[in-house]
Amino acid sequence: MFVRTISQNNLIEKGDLVAIGVSGGMDSMSLLHLLSKFSKKTNVNIVAVSIDEGTPGYRDKCIENVKKFCVSLGVEHHTQSYKEAFGFNIEDLDVKKFCTYCGVFRRKLLNQKAKKIGATKLAIGHNLDDEAQSVLMNVLRGDVARIQRLGPKPGVLEDEGFVPRIKPLRNVLKKELAVYSIVNELPIFEGSCPRSGDNTRRDVQALLMGMERKYPGTRSQIVKFYDKIKPKIVEKNGEFSYCETCGDPCSSKICKACELLEKLRSG
Ligand code: SF4
Ligand code: ZN
Repeated sequence: MFVRTISQNNLIEKGDLVAIGVSGGMDSMSLLHLLSKFSKKTNVNIVAVSIDEGTPGYRDKCIENVKKFCVSLGVEHHTQSYKEAFGFNIEDLDVKKFCTYCGVFRRKLLNQKAKKIGATKLAIGHNLDDEAQSVLMNVLRGDVARIQRLGPKPGVLEDEGFVPRIKPLRNVLKKELAVYSIVNELPIFEGSCPRSGDNTRRDVQALLMGMERKYPGTRSQIVKFYDKIKPKIVEKNGEFSYCETCGDPCSSKICKACELLEKLRSG
């Protein structure tokens, strides 16, 4: 499924430099392992990028594992922390919804780092479960602008300011990755983020798991449904502008990261 997703969607081309977002969790470590094997068979270079949001006892341990794993695979590894980029750790914030801030900042830094390295693609470890959750979350929020950006590659907001994000694992179930990581003895840190309970995605995940037990194939059907309607809802580069604060391409006057940073500054 991994190779088929890449070839059917033309996710990676000869000469690409693929930056892989590696948090140290099961999905991204499996992606790193798979892409490392893939790169040896093709004319494609890969590099790993980890973002440190600043959760002592968790992310530092994950990144330690990623570092060692990259050495064993012969893959270059880069890190970028919130502290360096924004001057704070995620745990310093006095906010209710940590994940909203953390996710937006992580995406921004991953893109920035990938761009700096000269990557032509940015691969992330989203699996089929994540993709089904994202579809449903955007439906629940009524977020038409965001739902357009799902899929194996976005195809909207194409601009040199964005390193195109690809999802080679978006047709692979989480449980299949669990088996893959055990069979290949991937060095995954077993802990979880202490703030992971405060998360809309967790609620949607629980909802979908309940549906899946009753109606097997629900997650896969949601993703297939999305793939069928995407061509009808996508407005390529529809509402497109550049952030007035940081200059990154975005769909409104100010990008989400700058909007949240401003909110933090103004207390
Ligand atoms: Fe960040 Fe939330 Fe993930 Fe923790 S669970 S790393 S706070 S997005
Ligand atoms: Zn901005």
